Amino acid sequence: MSNITVIGGGYVGLITAACFARLGHRVHALEIDTARLAAMRQGDLPIREAGLNDIWDQAFASGLLTVTGSYKEAVRGADFVFIAVGTPPRSNGAADLRQVIAAVRGVIAQANGSMPIVVLKSTVPPGTAELVKDIILEHRTWDVARVVSNPEFLREGLAVIDFMRPARIVVGSDDRDSAEAVGALYDKLRRPVIYCSNRSAEMIKYASNAFLCTKISFINEIAALCEEIGVDVADVSRALGMDSRIGNSYLDAGLGWGGSCLPKDISGLIWTANRVGVSTPVLSAAVRINNRQGWLVVEKLKEMIGDLRGKTIGVWGLAFKPNCDDIRESPAINLVRNLQGEGCVIRAFDPQAMGPAAEHYPEVAYCRDAYDAASGVDAVVLATAWPQFQTLDLTRVRSLMKRPLIVDARNTLDVASVTDAGLIYLGIGRPMAGPEFEQTPRELSHHLRQNRGRPPSAARRAR
Ligand code: NAD
Repeated sequence: MSNITVIGGGYVGLITAACFARLGHRVHALEIDTARLAAMRQGDLPIREAGLNDIWDQAFASGLLTVTGSYKEAVRGADFVFIAVGTPPRSNGAADLRQVIAAVRGVIAQANGSMPIVVLKSTVPPGTAELVKDIILEHRTWDVARVVSNPEFLREGLAVIDFMRPARIVVGSDDRDSAEAVGALYDKLRRPVIYCSNRSAEMIKYASNAFLCTKISFINEIAALCEEIGVDVADVSRALGMDSRIGNSYLDAGLGWGGSCLPKDISGLIWTANRVGVSTPVLSAAVRINNRQGWLVVEKLKEMIGDLRGKTIGVWGLAFKPNCDDIRESPAINLVRNLQGEGCVIRAFDPQAMGPAAEHYPEVAYCRDAYDAASGVDAVVLATAWPQFQTLDLTRVRSLMKRPLIVDARNTLDVASVTDAGLIYLGIGRPMAGPEFEQTPRELSHHLRQNRGRPPSAARRAR
């Protein structure tokens, strides 16, 4: 059993604290935000993650986990201090390390006698561990600074599983003993541990996220081409992904990536490269393509229903991905803002993220459910791939809409079910489909502009 302090009660800090206690370590969780701290104390955690509440409550009840707002209490007796505070992007793309530095200084101020091993769990640019060592050594109380880089790879929505069954554990340090001591904290997981230098560990995390971004942008570029040549990108990505050299995750065309990590980490990597004079055209293109995806949907809507001013659009999904309530850098939210910029009225529904969205974007009509969001709208856009949107009664949806158009910006709906319900289907990188398959895309779009309510078949009969 080791004594571990985890600084930061955000996504990563809460999961790290709870899971280390689950592994039998004694853990202090330190948070400086008083509201968050109070919630942590009451077990009313500020994030929703499958399995987290159970292990948090058990750890609390067993006495292995304690929560504090005091550095003095948290650092006293700690063998390891894990730093899991935020590293948001600065306006120039670089990571803002102020929270990390404040946390390190907080530890130094309270470390009487021996300085614990400082473990950087936050995602930081290569070279940060050296900076942290310099800060520790500046104090001249210690001759050596033991700093280990142990980046986190968990995915929101699957965070507990990812922590407990990671593909690999990366432990970087130029001090072998400290690295092995950190590696040993995870012994019970029986997962591969990659030992490397601090800089390598920092680079592994950045490169891994940048690769995921690039993979998504790659398939989005292929999707744009598929659309022009009448190919369904879903067929292409399914077959591509079956090749074990490629793999099928992060290979779905759609609105692109978002969230609190991928955008800032690829920007941080590009900034790091610029700083050392290395150009990164692939990474820059990945960012450009991602920024374009939301606008493609706006363009599609304009093509289909004309000028968007005064039009009402239903948006299904606001979270940056399904199974979480996180709207940070959400492509769905960016789309909402783009549409509002064009003069649209937005009716939105998300199974979990409406609370956080309403706090920041009050000028959206938040709806009871997906049907309510489709009521009286000129089009619906499916913006987050929540599984429950796949099982909606589309005939009912159709009956509520002003015009029969669904833009499936995550390619998750069954095209035949959409068209069988009398709706026109528009995906990303897929051929447009309508209730009457002999209609060309041009006819479908003409129909939508001319006939507000009736399905194409009825419109044709009326002529
Ligand atoms: P977050 O912003 O949700 O949480 C950070 C927490 O740290 C906040 O609660 C804040 O109040 C607290 N904090 C800030 N300064 C503090 C200080 N000096 N002392 C004590 N507490 C302090 O961040 P997060 O999503 O948990 O991410 C943390 C780090 O982990 C980031 O570098 C992020 O890139 C990385 N990461 C995040 C994820 C993810 O899915 N969220 C996954 C892997 C890695």
